[in-house]
Amino acid sequence: MAQDTDWSKVPNFTQDEFDYPNEIVADVLYMLQTMRTNENRRSVQRGGHGIIITINSDYRLGDPGQHGKGRALDVVIRDARTREPLPITMQFWMAQFYFWTGIGMYPYWKEPGLHLDLKPVSPIYSRRRTWCRQEDGKYIAVEEYMATVCRNTFIT
Ligand SMILES: [Zn+2]
Repeated sequence: MAQDTDWSKVPNFTQDEFDYPNEIVADVLYMLQTMRTNENRRSVQRGGHGIIITINSDYRLGDPGQHGKGRALDVVIRDARTREPLPITMQFWMAQFYFWTGIGMYPYWKEPGLHLDLKPVSPIYSRRRTWCRQEDGKYIAVEEYMATVCRNTFIT
């Protein structure tokens, strides 16, 4: 099902960055652009280099989940100058400001990144789902992962 995306509203992304640009629901791309615009500005304002967002996976034919509906993207949020992925906790922190209905943390991808999805329900009335995939493939709560990171970072 072709989508009616106005690509002029998505100025920081080009169609060739996606496998199936015409299968992604327009609101997903507009949300991605809003996040890119706001978080880039915020980064620059606090003296950072700005951010860029690269796409790992978009529409997936036959996927029973949100990827198969054109409503999910797998992304890596990066430092705009070094192009290195931001720490996964920072990527999650940025994403949680936006009305994604699902945010998955993937610290053990080749490069750490996020799954972002937007289900066709009112995000105002639906509870957001979040999760974190561990190195062994098991899923844990984001809060549990955060607690582990904090323990490992601040142990005395
Ligand atoms: Zn995904």
